[in-house]
Amino acid sequence: MNGTDLAARIREDVGREAEELGGASLATVLVGDDPASHIYIERKHEAARGVGIETRDIRLPATTGEDEVMALVDELNADDGVDGILVQLPLPSQIDEVRVTHAVDPVKDVDGFHPVNAGHLYLGTPLHTPATAWGCMELLHEYGIGIAGAEAVVIGRSEIVGRPVSMLLLTEHATVTICHSRTHDLAAHTRSADILVAAVGRPWLVTPDMVKPGATVIDVGINRTEDGLRGDVDPAVAEVAGFMTPVPGGVGPMTIALLLRSTLKAARFRRGLLAFRGA
Ligand code: NAP
Repeated sequence: MNGTDLAARIREDVGREAEELGGASLATVLVGDDPASHIYIERKHEAARGVGIETRDIRLPATTGEDEVMALVDELNADDGVDGILVQLPLPSQIDEVRVTHAVDPVKDVDGFHPVNAGHLYLGTPLHTPATAWGCMELLHEYGIGIAGAEAVVIGRSEIVGRPVSMLLLTEHATVTICHSRTHDLAAHTRSADILVAAVGRPWLVTPDMVKPGATVIDVGINRTEDGLRGDVDPAVAEVAGFMTPVPGGVGPMTIALLLRSTLKAARFRRGLLAFRGA
């Protein structure tokens, strides 16, 4: 399953829609020196500029206090020129991530981490959806994978990927099992999956013997190892699976494309073109 091509098509659509809308804007907040975070932010800005979304790139030193970040979030919430706000995680340890992510105006919360957005996802009426989870669903749609009635097994229960993708699968009528680090006999669950989503952060955790022949396997994992970039799924699983996403080139590019789509959604919410039912 080729996430690079699908993401490129989504970016083209977003570019067209952004023009029709008369533009949209995204503000990002990055605190500290985490090299991976700086790379992610660069990529998000480059992608946004590429589709005509205006960006504001706010970077603060690692020593920044929580009050300062909270004041900045308040300022961005009140700024009429900002449609979407993204606070890059992780934040340095002196800052309470929950407090900060919950302070973002839910209408501008393009990451979908605010409890209003998480709650709507739970209710089956998503407003802003975390981009990686949304990307997994778009890949399933693109390849015509039957979701209604399918046995879907998600490994991982993080707020960023595991939980939201489980809720989206449930909303589309899959029978969903969520596995995590306390799950007994993980393989017994994964072998029953028609759709298997691995969002764990353990290189090549999923091996061919854990996968039902013909299953669809979505590998969310991005693990930097001494031997290079590894997904959560052993590439040998491709011999058993019916469909599978590669790493890189699968879910990764989808995340950025759907962040751009979320920014457009925020712009539509703010212009009254889409109803934000959580407000
Ligand atoms: P996370 O917050 O660390 O969550 C990992 C989840 O996996 C937890 O729920 C954990 O269980 C579970 N887990 C850990 N070891 C396990 C095991 N041996 N068996 C079963 N479950 C296990 O990670 P995350 O943020 O969801 O990210 C997961 C992976 O996706 C990482 O590799 C990350 O880099 C990648 N990622 C990729 C993208 C992208 O754009 N492609 C975006 C986000 C994340 P507990 O809850 O019990 O601890």
